[in-house]
Order: sequence, then structure tokens, then C-alpha cells
Amino acid sequence: MTIPDHLKIGGRVVKIRRCFSVDMNGVSGNYNDWAGIIRISNDADINPEEPKIALIHEIVECLNKRHEYNLEHPIIQGLAENLYQVLKDNRLYFGEDEKDHEPVP
Ligand SMILES: [Zn+2]
Repeated sequence: MTIPDHLKIGGRVVKIRRCFSVDMNGVSGNYNDWAGIIRISNDADINPEEPKIALIHEIVECLNKRHEYNLEHPIIQGLAENLYQVLKDNRLYFGEDEKDHEPVP
């Protein structure tokens, strides 16, 4: 999976920008609700799964902010890592071009 350049979340387009973590105070991602932008680390020396987990994390951050779930940050972190693992392990895909996504044997 490649990181898309935008997502539609709750009917609103959220831009996704790739940045160096040094430009994000050392974090692997952040979400700016006012600007509607998710920034994901583009560092060359990180585990290739980190940007994907960061994307799920920032999606949860976006939902948390918009719906006022008031989730504590450790819960957001746990949800992101576990949702990523379930989606990956089961090759879950809910789009329409199923031919590109083979189910788990
Ligand atoms: Zn966070």
C-alpha cells in the first residue's frame, strides 16, 4: 500500500503530506484539524511499516477530534497499531477494485 495524497474522512477531504520527522518535532505523523492536513514521516531510515501505522494513527486522531471521542493518546496509539495489524494480517480491503487485492489463502 502506498500512502495516498489525500483521504476522504467523514465527507471532508484531508490532504496528506510527506515530511521529515525532524520537521514534525521528531514524531512520525501529525494531524492539523484546522488545515485538514495529515503529515506522515518520509524519513528514509525508518521501518517501512511506520508510515502506514502513522497514517492509521492520524486517521484515528482525525476521528477523535471531529467526533469529540476524547480518547487518551495511549488508546489512539494502541488502536492504530492493532487496527493496522488486523488489516494487514487479513489483507482486508473494502474498495471496489477487488482484483488488486487477493484474500488471505
Ligand atoms: Zn497522536
